[in-house]
Amino acid sequence: MTPELQGIGMTSRRTRTRMIQRLREAGIGDDQVLAIMAEVPRHIFLDEALSHRAYEDTSLPIGHSQTLSQPYIVAKMTEVLMRHKPRSVLELGTGSGYQTAILARLVAEVYSVERIKALQDRARERLRTLGLRNVRLRHADGGIGWADQGPFDAIMVTAAPRELPRDLMMQLGQGGVLIAPVGEHEQVLVQAVRRGDDFDIKEIEPVRFVPLLAGVVR
Ligand code: SAH
Repeated sequence: MTPELQGIGMTSRRTRTRMIQRLREAGIGDDQVLAIMAEVPRHIFLDEALSHRAYEDTSLPIGHSQTLSQPYIVAKMTEVLMRHKPRSVLELGTGSGYQTAILARLVAEVYSVERIKALQDRARERLRTLGLRNVRLRHADGGIGWADQGPFDAIMVTAAPRELPRDLMMQLGQGGVLIAPVGEHEQVLVQAVRRGDDFDIKEIEPVRFVPLLAGVVR
């Protein structure tokens, strides 16, 4: 364990325990996901001015009009994904890197794409601080996925495309799962499992994400 993980103060540990209790009450039942969320410090993924709010059940700004998802959504998406026991996961929208860190503690290989360079740089630094070495980051428009590294056992999209990203779903291996918020004004969390060239599609619950945007920001 890195010094940063050992050095977490009691206050943060207690607020984190309360966060886990709230997640359980909200219906998150995967003990492994909850255990990892209890360990990974969420406050280091925020600017200092906001870090005291890190364990509230709310999304928080990370700059560039982007947000770190609320703990419940991170837990829910991770729980759905982990039911499929993936080895490799492609994440679109690295953002703060918090969801990336949670995934890196749960699966063997994480690939994460971010279109805003400044966010990616900060995320890289935080992941390094936590000693997570099974993550590869890429600065690109993630809408096209990361074909060279595929097929993936799972794809998690953390910004909302207007429609189910069918092309991207072809980077899933057989039995692989995509989880993504889909829609514009009204969004729903969707799970798609690959069966041949077809997909079993299930809507999970209504959500609110920033939009998946085209192009990159240097
Ligand atoms: N998983 C992140 C959530 C960040 S919000 C976290 O835990 O903090 C969504 C992120 O998706 C933003 O950082 C945004 O810049 C990024 N994004 C939006 N469209 C994208 C695209 N086409 N390719 C890659 N990243 C994208």
